[in-house]
Amino acid sequence: MAFCTNCGQMLADGTRFCRFCGSQQPGDQLIARLRMEAESIRYRMQQMQTQQMQGANYGQQQNQRRW
Ligand SMILES: [Zn+2]
Repeated sequence: MAFCTNCGQMLADGTRFCRFCGSQQPGDQLIARLRMEAESIRYRMQQMQTQQMQGANYGQQQNQRRW
C-alpha cells in the first residue's frame, strides 16, 4: 500500500500517477536511486571527515616535533 506524495490519498502499490490529483508518484526505481544517492553522499561525507581528521593528526605531529 502506498500513499500519494501530493494529496496523501491511498493508492495501490506500483501506482505511477495518483488517480485523485494526478501527480506522479515516486516508483520503486526512483526510491532505490534516491537511496543510492544518499548512500554515496554519506560515503563522501565520511571520506571528507576522515581526511580532515588525518589532517588534524598531521598538524599535531608537526607541533609535537616542533616542541
Ligand atoms: Zn494525489
